[in-house]
Amino acid sequence: MADDKIPTEQWAQVVEETGGPVVYKKIPVQKPGPDEVLVNVKYSGVCHTDLHAMMGDWPLATKKPLVGGHEGAGVVVACGSMVNNLKVGDYAGIKWLNGSCLNCPYCENADEPLCQGALLSGYTVDGTFQQYAIAKAAHVAHIPRNCDLEAVAPILCAGITVYKGLKESGARPGQMVAIVGAGGGLGSCAVQYAKAMGLHVIAIDGGDEKGELCKRIGAAVYVDFLKSKDLVADVKSNTPDGLGPHAVLLLAVQEKPFQQASEYVRSRGSVVCIGLPAGAYLRAPVFDTVVRMISIKGSYVGNRVDTAEALDFYARGLIKVPYKSIGLSKLQDVYTLMRENKIVGRYVVDTSK
Ligand SMILES: [Zn+2]
Ligand SMILES: [Zn+2]
Repeated sequence: MADDKIPTEQWAQVVEETGGPVVYKKIPVQKPGPDEVLVNVKYSGVCHTDLHAMMGDWPLATKKPLVGGHEGAGVVVACGSMVNNLKVGDYAGIKWLNGSCLNCPYCENADEPLCQGALLSGYTVDGTFQQYAIAKAAHVAHIPRNCDLEAVAPILCAGITVYKGLKESGARPGQMVAIVGAGGGLGSCAVQYAKAMGLHVIAIDGGDEKGELCKRIGAAVYVDFLKSKDLVADVKSNTPDGLGPHAVLLLAVQEKPFQQASEYVRSRGSVVCIGLPAGAYLRAPVFDTVVRMISIKGSYVGNRVDTAEALDFYARGLIKVPYKSIGLSKLQDVYTLMRENKIVGRYVVDTSK
């Protein structure tokens, strides 16, 4: 039931016009519906998707005006009358998938991210760049009590996304996975999940700084595409039997790595696409794909079990996401840095500042 300490107004960053900028202002606090909870968002990670939502450059319309954000970590302050899986005071996470119908063939098969009635936080419904946000109770992430709410925030999109991709790859403990874009925000998360899952990681990215990061967080090998004269040969020669990695996780935002992956993946291996280079296409030789039995697939965000598992890896101390803190009032500065490609790691906004 609603607590009388919940204010009627709160600070939020609002996209009033497509293209931005975000406007820092006071807006009303919403009341949760019967199947919803109200979460006092303490921290929210900032994801590239949030910039796309502001710019309106994806082929999917956003709500307007819009409060962005989908990596929100906070505390439940009010529950709707039908909610019985959460209570006031619980730690809760609001992720990209805010809600789904729970009744369609996809939801029935635990493929809720594919639900045609899915609600997307910070995109089709207001998200976590506000102090109090609404989420469907069935989809709220249960954050273990021992987690630091600021540090755990990036797990709610970046962590779940790469963990799901690794599961989709089918790679088993002891096998090798190549992670393309390993030195980026998603990549550094993926390297740690892969290592925790017992996989050997071949990290692929550009530059010495990213190479040092990848090695430090557990990659067995680093292949620098800026220095390599033959990337396909270099990746294969870095596997003990020379046959290539069992799986490839593509987190890059350029198109070229998507074409190379099917050349160096091991026969019977899988290529998992996660990054979204604008307007890109996949191209692979049909002959090789057939006679080498290669699987090429996409992986989107995780379902509720993937969410719980990804958070559990984090709670056991196996994943550390490098992040910088900044006040919610400075969100536009983060977007500016993002546009200039100047962000290493992730920014997490503190909604109290
Ligand atoms: Zn995201
Ligand atoms: Zn559904």
